[in-house]
Amino acid sequence: MGEPLLKTETRDIGLDTGMAKLTPEKIEKVINEVLENETGAKLKVYVDTCVHCGLCSEGCHYYMSNDKNPIYSPAGKVKQTIWEILDKKGKVSPEFIRRAAEIAYTECNLCKRCAMYCPFGIDVAYLMLVVRRICHKLGVIPQYIQDTAHSHAATMNQMWVKEEEWIDTLFWQEEEAAEEIENLRIPLDKEGAEIMYSVIGPEPKFRAQLIYEVAVIMNAAGLDWTMPSMPGWDNSDMAMYTGDNELMGRLKKEHFEAAERLKVKKIVMGECGHAFRSVYDMGNRQLGWKMPPVRMVHALEFYYELFKAGKIKIPEKYSKGVTLHDPCNVIRGRGLHEMSRYTVNKICSNFIEMTPNREHNYCCCAGGGVINCGPPFRNKRVVSDRVKAEQLMAAKEKGAEVVIAPCHNCHGGLEDIIDHYKLDMELKFLCDIIYEVMEKPE
Ligand code: SF4
Ligand code: SF4
Ligand code: SF4
Repeated sequence: MGEPLLKTETRDIGLDTGMAKLTPEKIEKVINEVLENETGAKLKVYVDTCVHCGLCSEGCHYYMSNDKNPIYSPAGKVKQTIWEILDKKGKVSPEFIRRAAEIAYTECNLCKRCAMYCPFGIDVAYLMLVVRRICHKLGVIPQYIQDTAHSHAATMNQMWVKEEEWIDTLFWQEEEAAEEIENLRIPLDKEGAEIMYSVIGPEPKFRAQLIYEVAVIMNAAGLDWTMPSMPGWDNSDMAMYTGDNELMGRLKKEHFEAAERLKVKKIVMGECGHAFRSVYDMGNRQLGWKMPPVRMVHALEFYYELFKAGKIKIPEKYSKGVTLHDPCNVIRGRGLHEMSRYTVNKICSNFIEMTPNREHNYCCCAGGGVINCGPPFRNKRVVSDRVKAEQLMAAKEKGAEVVIAPCHNCHGGLEDIIDHYKLDMELKFLCDIIYEVMEKPE
């Protein structure tokens, strides 16, 4: 196969200026360093095993939503990137790298759905991550997502939130909540607490009400909890998605060290999929840990445990028709689908499954860092999830007015899909509904 099949029209400063600085010598050197030092049997087995049968194609929403265009099939993306790189032993052009970066960062959301339909379980998401790693080392990265990685590196959070802004936001949410529930606290830096609650960087910036809601839930359940005032409070990780593995490791270490400094027994992470993947699946591997030093659970598991233990009372369930989006990072990635259904059934009286569901659910096309690549790629992202829109529409026809999505990136992706396809559905986090219907202390 020759140069890429599709010349892109999408302009992006990060990709364009990154490409302009490349030389053939640099490309070859970096590629061979990554292949020799950072890959091994896994890459070889995947590449040698693939028989190009195409059985994975219909597993990918990009392929299905773009009228089965072969350039969007999982194997097509591999063919246009890593196979060509291996074939040419790294002797590829700057234009090739630019197009490979665009494919790996914006035409695959690393959702791993295709791996379930491959007879050999080949994980195309892993192969795209190898391409991203090469592109990171070559400095060819979409500008928006690279900016979030810069923020991580400089501030240890994704959104350039200053330390005083973070603490102010917690005080502000505590004040708001205390108007509703007297004596409610958001305990900061409480040493020896049972739980450290961590959130993603965008939460204090754009969705501070979620901290408020969780504070009310913690309070009603009578839990001994705390939040760190120091760096480590942000559990998100865009470095995982840019291919900056060293920074990913630094961020995860900071998160666990915050928990260790506070001597908590476990970490509860808010409703975010990619952050969980970074803590549970990828960052820990980068650090070489067999097991994380502190037990950590995703919000889905946490709410399940609370309801199982009868710590939250629901006087009257939420009555609007709801459907549930299964975020790939915590469902395919961690198998929390029955726990989330348990909670939804505890709080909602009219739950309508979307189809396909659980580990077969279609992704929102936002995760995997795709939404973080910003406006230049928005249209392609939304068009490439037409199948998700159809899935939501089918649930709506059965009576679902509300979509529950326990993941921040999914919210961003689904918001755009709902808007673009004019679906007129409401989006909620699980904690929005728990907070709304739970019995609250005076
Ligand atoms: S990981 Fe997801 S987005 Fe990427 S090729 Fe596979 S199905 Fe498509
Ligand atoms: S990745 Fe698996 S399903 Fe896809 S073409 Fe290769 S062998 Fe076939
Ligand atoms: S944002 Fe949500 S559904 Fe979308 S790719 Fe991530 S976890 Fe999957």
